[in-house]
Amino acid sequence: MGLVILAVPSSYSYMNKNLLYLFLFVLASCNKVEKNSPNVFFAGEIVNPTNDYVVLFKGDVVIDSAKLDENNRFAFKLDTIADGLYHFNHAPEYQYVYLEKGDSLMIRLNTTGGSFDESLIFSGNGEEINNFLLDLFLVNEDEESLIYSKYFGMEPDDFSKRIDSLRREKLAQLKALGSDVKISRQAEEIAKASINYTYYDYMERYPFEHKKLLRDKEIHDLPNNFYAYRKGVDFNNSNFTYLRPYYDFMKSHFDNLTYIDCSKDCSEGNEIVKNELHFNRHKLKLIDSLVVDKELKDNLLRNVAFKYLLKVHDKEENNKTFIDEFHKLSGNNKHIKEIDGLYEAIRNIQPNKEIPNFYVSNVAGDSVSLQNIAKKDKTVFYFWSGTDKNHLEKMANRVAQLSVAKPEYSFVGINIMTDEATWKALLVNKGLDANKQFRAKNFEELTKKLIVYPLNKCIITDDAKIVDAFSNMYASF
Ligand SMILES: [Zn+2]
Repeated sequence: MGLVILAVPSSYSYMNKNLLYLFLFVLASCNKVEKNSPNVFFAGEIVNPTNDYVVLFKGDVVIDSAKLDENNRFAFKLDTIADGLYHFNHAPEYQYVYLEKGDSLMIRLNTTGGSFDESLIFSGNGEEINNFLLDLFLVNEDEESLIYSKYFGMEPDDFSKRIDSLRREKLAQLKALGSDVKISRQAEEIAKASINYTYYDYMERYPFEHKKLLRDKEIHDLPNNFYAYRKGVDFNNSNFTYLRPYYDFMKSHFDNLTYIDCSKDCSEGNEIVKNELHFNRHKLKLIDSLVVDKELKDNLLRNVAFKYLLKVHDKEENNKTFIDEFHKLSGNNKHIKEIDGLYEAIRNIQPNKEIPNFYVSNVAGDSVSLQNIAKKDKTVFYFWSGTDKNHLEKMANRVAQLSVAKPEYSFVGINIMTDEATWKALLVNKGLDANKQFRAKNFEELTKKLIVYPLNKCIITDDAKIVDAFSNMYASF
């Protein structure tokens, strides 16, 4: 049997916190057919492919890659792979796939539009369970809006009753299915965990969402048994590490624990929660003390580091304190190079430092350095990509407006991820001043060096020195 969890990702790895993940299980059951072969056959069709390859990973390791044929189909024939969660990548999309020996799994997916779940078609053994789990996912989507609009406003007892009954209903459906179709133990465990952690996640978020919805000043007092499910939370199951509902639960859980811990125990009471450096260091320690599975721990600690470094924009010395602490706690983190790279990049674009001397191309095809472009004038660097038409439209209007309102600034557009011909055509089409437009050939390096996140961000410089590297085009400058 096999299980697929699909994630709608972003092309930019720093954005993973904000990804709209959707998960689907595609369980090809093993009813009737005995698993005589240890081989795994995993194949499919990509509608509207964005490139020629599908690459299969286990964690960070490439297992295999397959080229799409003329019908946009791919196939992996694998022998002797361990049962478990994998992910495959058809850039910029990532999808998780659970594979077991003897699997024969087919998928078809469409890269366009925002509704992967509805575009997904699968075939092979076990259509019943596939459809069941797809329905489960679609129901979850509907439930989420109900929970946000209605349930989060309820009193704690009512809320937990509602959530628990939704959870039990799904478990009962899974059980009923298990009596019709044979499901392996590991697959059942993962399906159960997906159901349980989806609803536990709502429980973890309740105090904060409730407070927000009711505009309360304080967190609501909770009955003693509110968090009773926490006794059963598993911090040491490597089968769950890449399971989206489980990982989302972990993030909410540690946000919740840290908030409560800090407001109770840390010397400055409630105020300390607003101290981002303290809060995030506290969270690192909690994760370190509770999580057993090394990979899960590494991923969660990385998540704290990225969130803190990318979103808080703390003072340089605070960032240093944070990263030093991170090294002490998790120097052997599997993501340490990436985290250090991010820290370094942020350090290099602090106020009064010269903008990194990165080379971009002008319309004539010459290489020009950012420092050269920013010399003398007050300059605002903004970013756009040809694939995000909506963003480009808004940006072009905003630039036209600001160029009149703020004539003391020179507004310079840097394109990422668009081929040269398309880029030039878009400049004409959107009426952008070609003298102030440049294109990054190595956009990955540029987005990492200048931390192009979110895409609305801009960098303000004066005589090539950074004034603010974390401003945005809608802020007043
Ligand atoms: Zn604290």
